[in-house]
Amino acid sequence: MTSIFTKIINGELPCYKIAENDEFFAFLDINPNAKGHTLCVPKKQVDKLFDLDEATYSRLMLFSRNIAVALKKAVPCKRIGLSVIGLEVPHAHVHLIPLQAMEDALFCKKVKLSKNEFESLAETIKAQLK
Ligand code: AMP
Repeated sequence: MTSIFTKIINGELPCYKIAENDEFFAFLDINPNAKGHTLCVPKKQVDKLFDLDEATYSRLMLFSRNIAVALKKAVPCKRIGLSVIGLEVPHAHVHLIPLQAMEDALFCKKVKLSKNEFESLAETIKAQLK
């Protein structure tokens, strides 16, 4: 079954895109734990992160690192947390979450953002990408 993330990658569903290359895609989480919460996903739909082959897994981590470095510059926070949960969407993805407190990493407290706020956040993060 086509995942919601594959539909986003294919442009069939909207998203607040941060970056893409031939293998990976990064966009803002629509129900963020914190401002700047970003998802990094392989374009190839694979359910579980650890089912990715070693080389793809390593490249996804490097791609995620590049996004995390930009995110840290763009969003005031103590550090960028990285999390793999994956119980909701069966398409491997890495959560990058700007952390001010441990509860930002816990997927219980959510932040509401307007369309304008999402758009301007995505632009601010993109501007920090190398
Ligand atoms: P999980 O599979 O448990 O890691 O959670 C999936 C994540 O994807 C959640 O944080 C959702 O808020 C996020 N999500 C689901 N649908 C969308 C969407 N259309 N655009 C952006 N993020 C989404």
